[in-house]
Amino acid sequence: EGPLWQREVREQFPIVTGHPDLAYLDSAATSQKPRAVLEAVQTYLTTSNANAGRGTYPWANRTTDLVETTRERVKEFLHDPEPGSSAVHFTSGTTEGLRTVARDWLVSYLRDGDEILVPYADHRANLDPWLEARRLLAERGVQVRVRALPYQAVSGDYDHRALAEAIGPRSRFVAATHVHHVYGGDMNVHRIREAVGPDVPICLDAAQSVGHLPVHLDDPSLDVDFVVFSGHKAMALPGSGAVWARNARGPVFRPDGWQGTPNTAGIVSLRAALDWLDATCVERIARWTTTLTTRLTDRLGRLGPYEVLGCPVSLAADSPLPAAQRRHGIVTFRHRDIPSDDLGFILFSHGFMVRADSLCQAGTDERDASVRVSLHAYNTPEEIDRLLSVLASLS
Ligand code: PMP
Repeated sequence: EGPLWQREVREQFPIVTGHPDLAYLDSAATSQKPRAVLEAVQTYLTTSNANAGRGTYPWANRTTDLVETTRERVKEFLHDPEPGSSAVHFTSGTTEGLRTVARDWLVSYLRDGDEILVPYADHRANLDPWLEARRLLAERGVQVRVRALPYQAVSGDYDHRALAEAIGPRSRFVAATHVHHVYGGDMNVHRIREAVGPDVPICLDAAQSVGHLPVHLDDPSLDVDFVVFSGHKAMALPGSGAVWARNARGPVFRPDGWQGTPNTAGIVSLRAALDWLDATCVERIARWTTTLTTRLTDRLGRLGPYEVLGCPVSLAADSPLPAAQRRHGIVTFRHRDIPSDDLGFILFSHGFMVRADSLCQAGTDERDASVRVSLHAYNTPEEIDRLLSVLASLS
């Protein structure tokens, strides 16, 4: 994944090559789309667009077939070891996916007196649905205790030792995040599984990992029961996403059936996006974005007025820190004197599109605003260097 590979990859994104004066550094919010995805959607809409699941003619049958085979494609992409028994449910993104797990599965799975552990400093989308599930159950007279998944203050990772101590006989569910959307660190899911034992279902918010780094469910270190992700952050259209559910261990996750009109164009785009990611090689994308991230964090940490959030200072590739503490395409920081929203405007005046607010992190508000730079396969070292020189000029 040197410059040649990268130039070829970048050229597949018309919006990126069409705007050479701008740098899109907000891929954690949503990714840009490669030509293959745009063409797949156009082909579908101009050759066989129809509703799914109720067809008596070829376009409708083809649409149904596209939806059903894309479920299998999602399983294949995730290296699902049990594709015969798992389920894939399409959603508009991670928020709806987590809400679906809470409403369609968790509320019927929990019993009076059970407790669940959920993250209090990750994306709000991974907290609100669990609190809502508790409220729904309380209305039915079922009392469930919601406990905080413990964190380590400095690294932004979970505190796995405290978690092992917090797990009790009534702990019945854990919600966690794969890659943190503010700190960019890998949250060490295998250590969560070690802490909670084999029988507690784990639901993983994989919004910042699917499409960014390999998410392979046949890897024993990724032993989870639900994987929730946003297709639109992984090269597919806005309004696309999915939940993968392992059915072997726990109760069966209700499939979505054909009760409404699915986002067929979104599903077609997801399939094309997964094909594109496999062909481009997610491992290479991960190495590329990690190299760029390291370039940014290392130099930013040395510019006086900037505080990089969530991790110890040196994150160089040869850093003695474990790989898991390196960042995956996300760097969030503040300037000592310039408010983050002002910094966002200043950066845009130089052509950089970044996120500058409280980043939907649970437990924060606008007073906690920061600037987030998030990267994908189309970003370049030149963009990072230009960004650093603008940031340095504000020192
Ligand atoms: N969880 C995480 C970790 C995220 O980064 C995001 C998006 N910023 C979400 C959930 C919400 O995803 P969506 O917008 O697709 O609902």
